[in-house]
Amino acid sequence: MNEHDSETISGMLQQRGYIEAPEKNESDITIINTCSIRENADKRFFGTLGQLKKIKEKNPEYVTCVCGCMMQQDHIVQELKQKYPWVDIIFGTHNICEFPDMLEEVYERRSKATKRTKNRDLRIHRVYEDTDKIAEGLPAKRLYKHKSFVNIMFGCNNFCTYCIVPYTRGREKSRKPEDIISEIKALVSDGVKEVTLLGQNVNSYSGVGADGKQWDFTDLIYALNDIDGLERIRFMTSHPKDLSDKLIKAFRECDKLCNYIHLPVQAGSSRVLKRMNRRYTREKYLDLVRKLRQAVPGIAISTDIIVGFPGETEEDFEETLTLAKEVQYDSAFTFLYSIRKGTPAAEYEDQIPELVKHERFNRLLDIMNNGSAMKNAAYVGRVEKVLVDGLSKKDDKIYSGRTEGFKLVDFTADENAGEELIGQIVEVEITDSNTFSLRGRLK
Ligand code: SAH
Ligand code: SF4
Repeated sequence: MNEHDSETISGMLQQRGYIEAPEKNESDITIINTCSIRENADKRFFGTLGQLKKIKEKNPEYVTCVCGCMMQQDHIVQELKQKYPWVDIIFGTHNICEFPDMLEEVYERRSKATKRTKNRDLRIHRVYEDTDKIAEGLPAKRLYKHKSFVNIMFGCNNFCTYCIVPYTRGREKSRKPEDIISEIKALVSDGVKEVTLLGQNVNSYSGVGADGKQWDFTDLIYALNDIDGLERIRFMTSHPKDLSDKLIKAFRECDKLCNYIHLPVQAGSSRVLKRMNRRYTREKYLDLVRKLRQAVPGIAISTDIIVGFPGETEEDFEETLTLAKEVQYDSAFTFLYSIRKGTPAAEYEDQIPELVKHERFNRLLDIMNNGSAMKNAAYVGRVEKVLVDGLSKKDDKIYSGRTEGFKLVDFTADENAGEELIGQIVEVEITDSNTFSLRGRLK
């Protein structure tokens, strides 16, 4: 979601005539889009900001802007104001659309400044409260010509006890189905073949159509499946508590819906899941996986897992290991639990010592990596449809793309194949595999 926000920010600036600097150090404006999900990102942000001070000292024209989820936290904004006075613009996730105007306002204030103008009067700090409004029609500078992210909803109502998102991104708001459909049709006319629908919990999408009819997520999928020229539909993220039989059926009936689902489990112990406020049990989750595999044999499944949530015992953790072995995930994002100020779990007294967290994390990673390697090995000899993303950075004779199941494939083609393969869906014979990717050759 943050990546897509960055694409929107770039798109808006491009529309006003700004151009991207070839090198980080050559820019006149720097924008840092932050994430507050885990502490690591916080630390990196403040480190990077420190380095920008030196550039600012050399170039008084320089404009430093910071945005993203971290700016929706009061204590962060206070810290920035007090300790980082060279930051010119602070804006939050709810007022991205106003950023180009803020930038122009800073230039205008600077042009009118006199010796008596106070430094603080040249800065803009605008972090808005959540509103019901959704800014429509913002441009986006896409990383790829042939694929695109599309927000279908914003915010989250789930309040998992470890998570900061509902506090930074606000309450759930769904876009109107017609707005989503027309955005995707326009993307398709511009060459997009694959869309990834974004939301913190897409399964709770609830949009109101022009005729007043309520649309759920699956209604939207069926409508998108009818768009000519669109070839692949993906979505992220799907909360297990709201994954409906209707959606499982849509996997079978909608040919454009990729046979892949990211289904974050977070933990394998029902006791921990309850304390996380996830509102499903281990059994319910395993049951969903069974249903998905029954309906869509071969569906690729990935997940998110948090290790060392407060109160997690060795037995609880082993339940995560056994669940992972049972599900046989295609891939997983594994995280060390990170205390997020303002969330209920930050106040729990039974925090897990760092050493224990790391030790468990390494055990889990071993199992997940072995599992992914085994899953990938089973692809050798098969022919997969791959949407070609580009040429490998390391070797311009090797193409790289994704299968329907979101597996990364590096492959070779004939000597005379060129860049025209990029953006095409091609058949690739898989010849080799490792933990994180497949290798092959064009059929
Ligand atoms: N809405 C998505 C998740 C968005 S955050 C969902 O519910 O699936 C992405 C992932 O970050 C989460 O799935 C979780 O595994 C991880 N995460 C969130 N808060 C965290 C925290 N405090 N510590 C460690 N990992 C966290
Ligand atoms: Fe965070 Fe839970 Fe919402 Fe996902 S569903 S964003 S983990 S609160």
